[in-house]
Amino acid sequence: MTIQLFHSPRYFADLGTHTMPIRKFGLVREAIEREGLPVRIDAPDAVTDEDLLRVHAEAYVRAVATGEPRALAESQKFPWSAALAESVRHTNGGCVAALRSALAEGVAGNLASGFHHSHRERGEGFCTFNGLVVAMERVRAERGGTLRALVLDMDLHFGNGTSYLLAERPWAHQLSIYGNFYKNNVAVRDVTLERADDTANCVSIAVPAGANGAQYLAALRGAFEAAIDRARPEVVLYQAGADPYREDPYSPLDLTHDDLRARDAYVFEVCAAKGIPVMWVLAGGYTPDVSKVVEVHVNTCRAAAAVFAR
Ligand SMILES: [Zn+2]
Repeated sequence: MTIQLFHSPRYFADLGTHTMPIRKFGLVREAIEREGLPVRIDAPDAVTDEDLLRVHAEAYVRAVATGEPRALAESQKFPWSAALAESVRHTNGGCVAALRSALAEGVAGNLASGFHHSHRERGEGFCTFNGLVVAMERVRAERGGTLRALVLDMDLHFGNGTSYLLAERPWAHQLSIYGNFYKNNVAVRDVTLERADDTANCVSIAVPAGANGAQYLAALRGAFEAAIDRARPEVVLYQAGADPYREDPYSPLDLTHDDLRARDAYVFEVCAAKGIPVMWVLAGGYTPDVSKVVEVHVNTCRAAAAVFAR
């Protein structure tokens, strides 16, 4: 079989000189196509106002659409433009499309982020609208109001926006394994100083600075299947972050490309063995040499292909 991926040139918006290498979405697509991985790549529909309003406050959705008030429209720390407003609707649309495809086919990916810092009434940390929760709510509505889902967040940063949004959504759970805590638009780089508490449906595992691949994988192996047992998900949404990588300017972890690829392989193997559909998104990655960010993301696709397209 081939794996359904979603990407569109409309994911791109010119952010000027910015920490977030938004062009990586297109670079990942090019690398996957160049290698001839067994995938099909389609452009998703943009999300609608109705999709966004299931998750986000009307004043915030309007601010991002119009650019006013500017501080709210730029609360995710991107310079507002009409192109940005368009781009975030398409990247969120990719989350919806990938979730739907995963449920139908067992696996799918969106070549954009999951936007896990975004809150109901504002953006945060380069995340405008929370594509993970927008996608779950849209698919849940399409299914007549039923869905059980598990977000596995393996971005470097704690998935605070998702955790906050899931507080009122007991049908979805999250497992976030992270090396930087994140709150109030500030990354707390030392998880021994501050970390997230567990909530009724969100488990938080802080990985200490300096952790190597064996420690990181042990944290994942020790928690993922237990999270599945708790959530009993019909689908796993996997935030396959590139920012835990050792050269990332935010990362205190000592993780190589092989370590992150082993992480991805484990996630896909567990989902396949249990027969749980999985969709993945790229999430963060800020290593100045963008080819290294692309390598992490392409490795995730290679790992999915090795498990699902053999
Ligand atoms: Zn991150």
